[in-house]
Amino acid sequence: RFNRLQLQGQSKDELMEMSMTFNDMIELLENNYKKQEQFVANASHELKTPLTIIESYANLLRRRGLDRPEIFTESIEAIHSEAMRMKDMTEQLLLLAKHKEQWNIRLDNVNLTELTIGSAKAFRNAYGKEIRVNGQPEVFGYSDESKLKQLLFIFLDNAQKYSDDDIVVEVGALSDDRFIRIIDRGIGIAKDKLPYVFDRFYRVDEARTRQAGGAGLGLSLAVEIAEAIGVRIELDSVEGEGTTAELWIPEGNVIMRDSHRILI
Ligand code: ADP
Repeated sequence: RFNRLQLQGQSKDELMEMSMTFNDMIELLENNYKKQEQFVANASHELKTPLTIIESYANLLRRRGLDRPEIFTESIEAIHSEAMRMKDMTEQLLLLAKHKEQWNIRLDNVNLTELTIGSAKAFRNAYGKEIRVNGQPEVFGYSDESKLKQLLFIFLDNAQKYSDDDIVVEVGALSDDRFIRIIDRGIGIAKDKLPYVFDRFYRVDEARTRQAGGAGLGLSLAVEIAEAIGVRIELDSVEGEGTTAELWIPEGNVIMRDSHRILI
């Protein structure tokens, strides 16, 4: 509830202060509005790219698909993969647009070793990429299992998109914290680009990462999820050598803390 504004008998200083507060409020609203506008513009742009590809392949199918089997196969495959990309992106966008109160966070003791091994298996089946899991058995942390899995998937997904070698995941415990560490030996991220990778729609190399299927939304969603479940993300990367992401999960109920940090 706001106090009712009383505009009588104020001194000049008080009026000055009030007008400054008012201007700050306007600026905040304007910034929010601009951010939203930017978000919608970026989202539409990102969704338009796969749609355009789908449209052009559908056209090709219509014209020459029936008499050229190789065109038929190529088009169907392209349409399928672009549709999948759109589906992933839409899911990410929907989550980002939703208020966190609607996320239905349920915190509990989670067996992190089991969660990591299960996710690695699911991931291996889906992408055919080898993932090695090392670590202690029965490491428990306080978290929301499905959201943590989603978080882990974002990092596994990046690790497989930006590297050709096996991915290594480590699970362990350190004093009051538990960790899941995702290590890839891929292309890495340049030092000067690292501070921006958590921004919405940011990609280090537009052409290259778009080809890999990214819209620059994964890590910004990761930060939102981490904030909601009390995980701290630490990201370390060396260009040309690879990337290590650490998810620090509290052992008990400590929810407020920084959600991400870049190690340089
Ligand atoms: P995307 O969906 O495009 O991968 P993210 O928000 O997950 O978006 O990541 C932002 C950008 O950071 C990526 O486009 C990519 O350029 C870079 N990046 C993220 N993870 C890695 C990684 N493991 N190795 C190399 N580059 C990465």
